[in-house]
Amino acid sequence: MEIEVLEKTNSKIKFLVSGVKTSFAGSLRRIMISEVPTMAIEWVDFKKNGSAMPDEILANRLGQVPLTYDRKAYNLPSECKCGGKGCSRCQVKISLKKKGPRMVHSDNLKSGDKSVKTAIEKIAIVELFGDQELQFVATAQLGLGREHAKWKAAVVGYKNMPKIKTNEIDKKYLEKFVDICPRGVFKSNNGRLVVKDPVNCNLCMQCTEASKKDEIQITPMEDTFVFNVESISGLKPEEIVFIAAKILGSKMEEFKKALKKVK
Ligand code: SF4
Ligand SMILES: [Zn+2]
Repeated sequence: MEIEVLEKTNSKIKFLVSGVKTSFAGSLRRIMISEVPTMAIEWVDFKKNGSAMPDEILANRLGQVPLTYDRKAYNLPSECKCGGKGCSRCQVKISLKKKGPRMVHSDNLKSGDKSVKTAIEKIAIVELFGDQELQFVATAQLGLGREHAKWKAAVVGYKNMPKIKTNEIDKKYLEKFVDICPRGVFKSNNGRLVVKDPVNCNLCMQCTEASKKDEIQITPMEDTFVFNVESISGLKPEEIVFIAAKILGSKMEEFKKALKKVK
């Protein structure tokens, strides 16, 4: 198995994995989406809510704010020593006290732990008009995307890496093939059709359909996948991949242990 990082920013990572089966790629994607723990507000105790937004809607909005957290400091409530009752290892208090007129943003949230804070500044939460007041104490905790979308770590997609072969092409058709591709995969160079960006190909097959004499042949590589991971949580995209791989490994270990007990 080989991995090559193609692009990386603070919120996205694109990488190539080769030497794996579709089932592996599918499992990795599923785990990244639904089993990587992330931090989100779960309960809100409103002391004052003079805003135009009802408590339930406001609590829902607060739950969607992606929060960073120290991975070494927090447990999932179901795995915490407190048995899920709530303690400093599985919960953190987040408070807010603001008076209008003003817009309340995600970075106005005051956290009881400096590692837990909004991952994106200036997410508009609610506008307070006149002397409207908002005051609450919320409880954030780790959760999984399969329990609620607010704990989803990332949006993840993958595709088979295309293998693109160009054969002899009549020069008068070169530009036609360059123009037909919606993803800018080809360019013409010195009278030849050159594949400049194969990763960008989305296997739409418009070019092969226009190839009357098999000028272009494209086949999806069955053991090589291009992954796109966009974090929508407080975790960095590379952390999400790493944690998902660890979870997949521990699931296999558990499976092996269970198998040994089978007589
Ligand atoms: S299959 Fe579609 S995206 Fe890929 S090279 Fe051909 S036209 Fe471009
Ligand atoms: Zn606990």
